[in-house]
Amino acid sequence: LEVIASVEPRIAEATRAELADQRGSLKLIASENYASPAVLMTMGTWFSDKYAEGTVGHRFYAGCQNVDTVETIAAEHARELFGAEYAYVQPHSGIDANLVAFWSILAHRIEQPTLAEAGLKNVNELSEADWETLRRRFGEQRLLGMSLDAGGHLTHGFRPNISGKMFHQQQYGTDPETGLLDYDVVAAKAREFKPLVLVAGYSAYPRRVDFAKMREIADEVGATLMVDMAHFAGLVAGKVFTGDEDPVPHAHIVTTTTHKSLRGPRGGMVLATEEYAPSVDRGCPMVLGGPLSHVMAAKAVAFAEARQDSFRTYAQDVADNAQSLAEGFNRRGATLVTGGTDNHLVLLDVSGYGLTGRQAEAALLEAGVVTNRNSVPADPNGAWYTSGIRFGSPALTTRGFGKDEFDAVAELVTQVLSQTTPGTTKAGGASKASYVLADGVAEKVRAEAAEL
Ligand code: PLP
Repeated sequence: LEVIASVEPRIAEATRAELADQRGSLKLIASENYASPAVLMTMGTWFSDKYAEGTVGHRFYAGCQNVDTVETIAAEHARELFGAEYAYVQPHSGIDANLVAFWSILAHRIEQPTLAEAGLKNVNELSEADWETLRRRFGEQRLLGMSLDAGGHLTHGFRPNISGKMFHQQQYGTDPETGLLDYDVVAAKAREFKPLVLVAGYSAYPRRVDFAKMREIADEVGATLMVDMAHFAGLVAGKVFTGDEDPVPHAHIVTTTTHKSLRGPRGGMVLATEEYAPSVDRGCPMVLGGPLSHVMAAKAVAFAEARQDSFRTYAQDVADNAQSLAEGFNRRGATLVTGGTDNHLVLLDVSGYGLTGRQAEAALLEAGVVTNRNSVPADPNGAWYTSGIRFGSPALTTRGFGKDEFDAVAELVTQVLSQTTPGTTKAGGASKASYVLADGVAEKVRAEAAEL
């Protein structure tokens, strides 16, 4: 930090403040974690300075021998960790990984057959008419994914997102009574819509998914099954999700982030069957900019950590702690989407406290509890104000919290929410954003949290 301070002291100061904030609060954002010192240090090296477009042994720049070593090791670890046929460790983030997956599905299933029809190998050799046919075919394809308010991600076909514009899209939700996925409904939609891509996976669904069933549905309608395991990759790596709950043996393509429950550097990855490997491999430069070699190195270090037995213990603790949090909320009379959890996240409907998600998020933050507001299914408050708060156990489990501490967290959250009331707008009307937290609560909760 002294080196940084000698150039731009404000950045050194912000970095110190960030460390203090992360240490001095309860980090319950389900998509965050604490990477190890080894992972963090690996990101601050000279690999940051190297350009390496292309893939191992096939680069568009000279002098990539050391990047090749790094990328090879990271991919080897990833294949071993997840039992995957092929791993592509270049994506800069989860969204980039999903874009690579979309591109590779289109390349494999639409571009390759179009080229074969024309008796060609390369798009550049297509006649103008065949090129137009190819472009039209790309634009005609369909994608079926989980809706945002049911817990899916923006890139799973949400209309305003690029995924909702690249593809004709439809969405599946969850059962309005139980909040659970109904595979018969997904199958019926798939039969009717006949998507090229069926996307499974979620950002805010507090339950496990049966990927064998999803694959059956995909096979029946001729779709490629793409699973986005960004949120629960750590539970897959740690063998908490096995058999039908492990997406890798069932999906054609699996995408993930590396920084959430997997506890690596910020980044993304694509795992694929051999069939899709050649098109995934062209992700850079067809979709992605030059790889972040320093981050690929840090991914290799994180995957090596995740292959240790201690990571299995960690992953099981993540699931057990989320359960403890959910039970703690239930015992205190809260309403949870689906009634509980069997993964790493809990979705609390705060409308029972008379609050919007935005008000609850802000009140909790004032008391040092860092969360994010989240839509609940059919949310009357929309995606900005929302009616839910999403909690995740990965980060505090890394800090060593166990079931008792998570129960205590449920108590602290309940104290804050039950002593918060909606505020008013400047004009005195009802506000969905402002809130009033009773005097002294924030200080008391902060003090109790510091003892955990
Ligand atoms: N996929 C899912 C399921 C996610 O929850 C997220 C992020 O929260 C992403 C993709 C995007 O990841 P990133 O922010 O690294 O692009």
